Amino acid sequence: MNAVPPCPKCHSEFTYEDGALYICPECAHEWAVGEATMPAEAAAKVYRDSAGNVLQDGDTVMVIKDLKLKGSAGVIKMGTRVKNIRLVDSDHDIDCRIDGFGAMSLKSEFVRKA
Ligand SMILES: [Zn+2]
Repeated sequence: MNAVPPCPKCHSEFTYEDGALYICPECAHEWAVGEATMPAEAAAKVYRDSAGNVLQDGDTVMVIKDLKLKGSAGVIKMGTRVKNIRLVDSDHDIDCRIDGFGAMSLKSEFVRKA
């Protein structure tokens, strides 16, 4: 018996099988069991950096321009390395922590894979 594949939408591993469907309890995505033979990547959103490289969770990226922080005087300088990014499906599609700034959301168009 095959293991239930992770959710193609949010990559949750808490998916379960219900008849002919797989169900993700985290984002409520449901998909047919037959579709699971497709590579998960084909269905998942692909995140690309400013140069078109595919980004993945855990990657290290570099900021390619000075980024002003909303609501503070801080600026993330061009060239800042950001380790262990997490990709999220939103306008700012990278969640990360930056030394000296803390938790942060960035746009993938303003980074390049390091
Ligand atoms: Zn999901």
